[in-house]
Amino acid sequence: MSILVLPQVVSQADPFRAISQALESPLLTLGIRLTLLFFAILWLSLVYWTFADAGRRGAMRWYWGLVALLFPFLGTLIYVIVRPPEYLLESRERELELAVLERELRQKVDLCPNCREIVEKDYLICPDCGWELKKPCANCRKPLDMRWETCPYCATVQRKNVNW
Ligand SMILES: [Zn+2]
Ligand SMILES: [Zn+2]
Repeated sequence: MSILVLPQVVSQADPFRAISQALESPLLTLGIRLTLLFFAILWLSLVYWTFADAGRRGAMRWYWGLVALLFPFLGTLIYVIVRPPEYLLESRERELELAVLERELRQKVDLCPNCREIVEKDYLICPDCGWELKKPCANCRKPLDMRWETCPYCATVQRKNVNW
């Protein structure tokens, strides 16, 4: 009896032995190690990238670098979702450009209140529609805002009634 049973046991154990042998094969071990090494390098690269990108965008770079380090891949993914939308330098440049543009507009450009044409600061009337823009000072003839009651150039009090 025992002679008949033994080959059956051996043949049943065979597939398991084949699997364990395959797992212990040096080629597979090397493959697994290389894969792990690849993911470790990718993870560390992402930690560095998260740190650097957070710095460029004015986010807390040490905090986000640590998050990316403690939570491989997931930390960087969360950072990409919540990070500031633009680089710090870009947003500062744009703010500066806007401020300059606004100042230029306020200082240089006057618009005719009637036809919206661009007029010079010292125009008395609009060259396009003839709208009265400024009044000349009664004393020094400099163009004054219609609301001003005293000339800022020569301190002469202006007449209220211009029909003279
Ligand atoms: Zn006009
Ligand atoms: Zn004056």
